[in-house]
Amino acid sequence: MILGCHVQMKAPEYLLGSVKEALSYGADACMVYTGAPQNTIRKPISQLKAADAAGLMAENGMSMERMIIHAPYIINPANSVKPEVAELSVSFLQQEIQRVHEIGARYLVLHPGAYTVTDLPTGIQTIIHQLNLVDVPSDVTIALETMSGKGSEVGFRFEQLAEILAGLQQNERYGVCLDTCHINDAGYDLTDFDDVLDSFDHTIGLSRLHVIHLNDSKNAKGMKKDRHANIGLGTIGFDVLHQIAVNQRTENIAKILETPYINKKPPYGIEIEMLKNGKFDAKKLEL
Ligand code: FE
Ligand code: FE
Ligand code: ZN
Repeated sequence: MILGCHVQMKAPEYLLGSVKEALSYGADACMVYTGAPQNTIRKPISQLKAADAAGLMAENGMSMERMIIHAPYIINPANSVKPEVAELSVSFLQQEIQRVHEIGARYLVLHPGAYTVTDLPTGIQTIIHQLNLVDVPSDVTIALETMSGKGSEVGFRFEQLAEILAGLQQNERYGVCLDTCHINDAGYDLTDFDDVLDSFDHTIGLSRLHVIHLNDSKNAKGMKKDRHANIGLGTIGFDVLHQIAVNQRTENIAKILETPYINKKPPYGIEIEMLKNGKFDAKKLEL
């Protein structure tokens, strides 16, 4: 099983530090933001120690497909109301894709966005229109994330993502990132993950699934909330999340933990260890 987690990217070691952090947790993959998720300030790629990071990953048997980049959530391709937001979404997404290409990573996780004051069909058509203004190089794949449906978020049903994918000119350069907390909150029953994968396969196609975000949820199924819980401490529960982690049909897909820090300490080393040996112990999460 390929397990990773969200890691920091900060001075002085940047991406090299991110990989070191992931390795310190026993992770086989990691996910980073190329800068603060809520703003557009970015360091030049030449300063991010991308080659050193790739070297350290290679030494540990990890290809750069295991370094997943998450696009900042200020990018909202579903917004058709404010032209300046739409314009920024496209130009910043284009730059972000270029950064992924220069870093040498493969997958860029992107939230489809929120339609704000219009409606879901308008949101979907706006996303298609906006993404068709972006050029994705052949070595980058954008993974649209499944959302919880909170507020006016688009992408909380597989059918919505299928509709978006069907409208994209560079269709083959897009796929999906499945977030377990989000789809639980959107109303999917994760108890039998094979059922979820069957439904994903029928609507989108399993070959389009590139990343899994493995999170527990603080809310009950269908609540449309999006609050992540630590593995085993939420409503999805350890056994179901462990089943997802070991599912044969997704064994080559990186599963990334985006669970909250506990007492300001990262829980990932313990969560990864528990998922790897299949035994949950809530006491170990008392950090
Ligand atoms: Fe996300
Ligand atoms: Fe996520
Ligand atoms: Zn979330």
